[in-house]
Amino acid sequence: MQHVETIIVGGGPSGSTCAWQLGSKGHEVLVLDKAEFPRLKLCAGWITEKAMEDLQLTQETYPHPLLELDIKAHYPKIPFALSWFPTKGKNYSIRRTEFDAWLLERSAAPVANHTVKKIRREGDRYIIDDTFSCRNLVGAGGTMCPVRRNLFGDERRKSRRSRPWKRNSNIRPARTTATFISVSAACWDMPGMCPRAMTM
Ligand SMILES: Cc1cc2nc3c(=O)[nH]c(=O)nc-3n(C[C@H](O)[C@H](O)[C@H](O)COP(=O)(O)OP(=O)(O)OC[C@H]3O[C@@H](n4cnc5c(N)ncnc54)[C@H](O)[C@@H]3O)c2cc1C
Repeated sequence: MQHVETIIVGGGPSGSTCAWQLGSKGHEVLVLDKAEFPRLKLCAGWITEKAMEDLQLTQETYPHPLLELDIKAHYPKIPFALSWFPTKGKNYSIRRTEFDAWLLERSAAPVANHTVKKIRREGDRYIIDDTFSCRNLVGAGGTMCPVRRNLFGDERRKSRRSRPWKRNSNIRPARTTATFISVSAACWDMPGMCPRAMTM
């Protein structure tokens, strides 16, 4: 059994950022992930300037392609695109496979390739699959996080917005049209630089 102060389950952006922050403050951390990085991850690859600031990341310090996105909004009945999007600051595009692997590597945390199945409490420690034990456990395993499933039940809570829709399926959307948001020429260039796999 390997004993560690803090185990983080999941090495995606949440887990790796948590590991990075804890590690930089001198805490002992181990990241467990069922996938080997770089791993495939379905994603549009869009990150905001705010996210980059939080991650202390700039175009200069990031070693992989990071494109500035010029996102335009198309509204029905308006024949031209508006160069506006409701986010503060600039928007960027990354290849998620590279991005997640780089974040995890930057955290400098040890990573064990392990699929977490069973977690139990024993005294003041969490025991993971009778293989790892820790005093602090962080669940960063995404949608089906095994920490949540083991310690907080398997039931997935419905979002507040979806509840009334379920209860009364006669509710109709207030609008009959949807806002279509497309991207400008800068982004159409992406497939050239970032082939299909870039969004994985
Ligand atoms: C189609 C799609 C497009 C998206 N586009 C964008 C976008 O453009 N921009 C944006 O900001 N967000 C986007 N998102 C959302 C974004 O992907 C998530 O918010 C983000 O991945 C959450 O990061 P995370 O670290 O919490 O989880 P994840 O990135 O999902 O990482 C969880 C990690 O836990 C590991 N794990 C899971 N189960 C176990 C287990 N049992 N044992 C060990 N390890 C385990 C997984 O292997 C994985 O590496 C998109 C999501 C989808 C589905």
